[in-house]
Amino acid sequence: MSQTPREDFRAAAHTAADLVADYLGAVASRPVWQPTDDAAREHLLTAPLPAAGRPLEELLSAIGSEVMPYPMGNGHPRFFGWVNSAPAPAGVLATLAASAMNPSSAGGDHADVHLERTVVRWIAELVGFPHEPGAGILTSGTSMATVLCLAAARNRAAQRAGWDVREDGLAGMPPLVAYVTGETHSCVRKAAELLGLGSRRLRTVPTDADGHLDVAELRKAVAADRAEGLLPFLVAASAGTVNTGAVDPLDAVADLCGEEGLWLHVDGAYGAFGVLDPAIAHRYSGMERADSLALDPHKWLGVPVDCGCALVRDAAGLRATFSLVPPYLRDEEAGGLGWFSEYGMEQTRPFRSLKVWATIAHRGRDGVAADIARCTALARHLGQLVEDDPELELVAPVETSIVAFRHRAPGLPDAEADAVNRDLPLAVQRRGRAFVTGTVLGGREALRACLLNAATTEEDLAVLLDEVRAAAAGLVTQRHG
Ligand SMILES: *Cc1c(COP(=O)(O)O)cnc(C)c1O
Repeated sequence: MSQTPREDFRAAAHTAADLVADYLGAVASRPVWQPTDDAAREHLLTAPLPAAGRPLEELLSAIGSEVMPYPMGNGHPRFFGWVNSAPAPAGVLATLAASAMNPSSAGGDHADVHLERTVVRWIAELVGFPHEPGAGILTSGTSMATVLCLAAARNRAAQRAGWDVREDGLAGMPPLVAYVTGETHSCVRKAAELLGLGSRRLRTVPTDADGHLDVAELRKAVAADRAEGLLPFLVAASAGTVNTGAVDPLDAVADLCGEEGLWLHVDGAYGAFGVLDPAIAHRYSGMERADSLALDPHKWLGVPVDCGCALVRDAAGLRATFSLVPPYLRDEEAGGLGWFSEYGMEQTRPFRSLKVWATIAHRGRDGVAADIARCTALARHLGQLVEDDPELELVAPVETSIVAFRHRAPGLPDAEADAVNRDLPLAVQRRGRAFVTGTVLGGREALRACLLNAATTEEDLAVLLDEVRAAAAGLVTQRHG
């Protein structure tokens, strides 16, 4: 198959540029989200395999009319759902160039590989994590970064116990125990299960009322497990939980991990970049003491999906976990760091670093920090609006840029009010003017608004609350029958 662009490529590329610029330019004036209409959904689902090809211009027009009208909604300044950001325009452009080069960033001497070393160093510097060359890698997201970090932690613990997991597996080894909280993201459990640790050996440590890991309880749990002959090896703390944005007391957790010889893993997928806001940076104290930090440039930084990152303290340990290159054959190019494929699961790896480079380089450190600070300020403002509103209540303090709140549903018994709050996110979404998602906190249904978009205005926040009140009024009326 010939892949050399024909002369029609340049014209189509210009059309594509216009299509994308028009799309991004119009996002804010469209509904945030709307259900895919039935005919369009059917068309997307049942498209037959085409026997004959079509010209590029025709494909672009199909993308414009059949695909782009049905976005997820992130990108709109009134999208507050989950943890999905608007794409950074510089990152969007870089994606095109990266795919034109289309390297495998597994390793070697080409620009993408060198650029990845640099953007990993930049990410570490942005979040204040100590960095030695080689001690980090871009991944598909934090879920994969967590697998890498926990694998390195597991292998270190096994080695200390005189065990070679890579040769012998886990069977017969004293059972390893890891510590999480009820607010820990499910990717930690997925990784623990995948790595053969067993979710039964994942201890859920109690939290305080606002969802922070309780260090005294952690200390007790570790002691109890040691007394049973088990091998505590890892604590997974959060630098911004997905439910409320709570940051665990990282310094105190790091102290305990130091005393007990435990690996401290910090999940900063959503929240790590919050440390760039001087107003909340103090909450992150201790993050820089972690053995590993997983974070997502594709969240708060706005790097187009996908891009996660694993940062580790010990580059050699991560390499020893994954490398299949015998030490005597290890490539001494690039300062002896070898290939990225020796530090993780992926062999053929996409050119993620260019969109990270572009996203950060476009705003600069100061611009990135200003965007982060704007989001946290907007979140505090939204929190204040909620507190001042007799119909609404905050269900957690606003620590980073997530606001968790409820509608009081006056006049309804608790269970009914809970049902209203459960149904509220979809009711708000369907109205098309704002997008918010829900969660369960302390057994109660709640809404959570995650602010990641520096283009959001205070007026947008007022619209969000108007929409919540209006949608709730509809639901309450229905319940009153
Ligand atoms: C999004 C998220 C994850 C999972 O990361 P992916 O990039 O979706 O794999 C883990 N932890 C937290 C706190 C998150 O917000």
